[in-house]
Amino acid sequence: MDFQASLNALNIAYSARQLEQCEIYFQYLTEQNQVMNLTALTSRDEVYRLHFLDSLHLAQAASLKQQTLLDIGAGAGFPSIVLKIFFPELQITIVDSLQKRIKFLEELVAKLGLHGVTLIHGRAEELKQREHFDLVTARAVARLHILSELSIPFVKMGGAFIAMKSSKIEDEKEEANHAVETLGCVFEKKIDYEIDQDRIHTLLVYRKTKHTPSLYPRTFGQIKHRPL
Ligand code: SAM
Repeated sequence: MDFQASLNALNIAYSARQLEQCEIYFQYLTEQNQVMNLTALTSRDEVYRLHFLDSLHLAQAASLKQQTLLDIGAGAGFPSIVLKIFFPELQITIVDSLQKRIKFLEELVAKLGLHGVTLIHGRAEELKQREHFDLVTARAVARLHILSELSIPFVKMGGAFIAMKSSKIEDEKEEANHAVETLGCVFEKKIDYEIDQDRIHTLLVYRKTKHTPSLYPRTFGQIKHRPL
C-alpha cells in the first residue's frame, strides 16, 4: 500500500516528521503487542491501512482545526493518536477503562513528542467534562444505541458525535434513533468509504442541538441492560 498516495487522496498534508512518527508508532505498537493485547493486526500493511488510514478518514467528517476531541475507548490510540500526528493543533482527550492501554499510550505520546494529549484511565460514563468537547468519537467500542449514551453527554452544544463503524450499519443506526434523539442530537450525515478491496467503513455524524438531560449518562449496568 502506498501510504503517501492515500494521504494525498484524503487531502491530508504531511511532512517527513509525521511519516517518521507513524513509523515509530508502528514499531512500538508491534513491539508492545507481544507483551499485551493491543491489536489483532500486525503486518505493516494492515496497521497502516486498517488502523492509520482508517483513523484519518474521520477528517472527512468534520474540520479538525482548533478543535477539542474526546476519543472514547481508544485502546492502542485509534483514531485519535493518528489524528493528533497529522493535525497537531487538535486537543485530544482519551478515556479508556483499561489501565495497561493508558500506560501504553503514555509511553507512546512521549515517544512521539506529542503535546496537548490528555489520557484518562476510567469509564466514559463517569467522565466529569459534560458538554465540553467540540467532537466526540469512538471506534469499535459498543453498539450505537449504547455508545450514544457513553458519548453524546460530553459533546458541547453545536458540536458533533462521530461514530466510526464498519458497513451494514442500517439496523444499528435505526436501533439508535431513540437514544440519539433523547440525548440531544440529530443525524447529520453518513459517509461511506472503501478501506480495502470490497471493505466499506462508515462514519455517522450526529449534531448536538439540545442539552442532554442530566439523567444521562446512567451507570453502565443501566445503559447495557436498559438501553435507550
Ligand atoms: N478504538 C480502538 C480501536 O478502534 O482500535 C480500540 C477498540 S477496543 C475493541 C475497545 C476499547 O474500549 C478497549 O480498550 C476498552 O478498554 C475500551 N472501553 C470499553 N468500554 C469503555 C467505557 N465504557 N469507557 C472507557 N473505555 C471503554
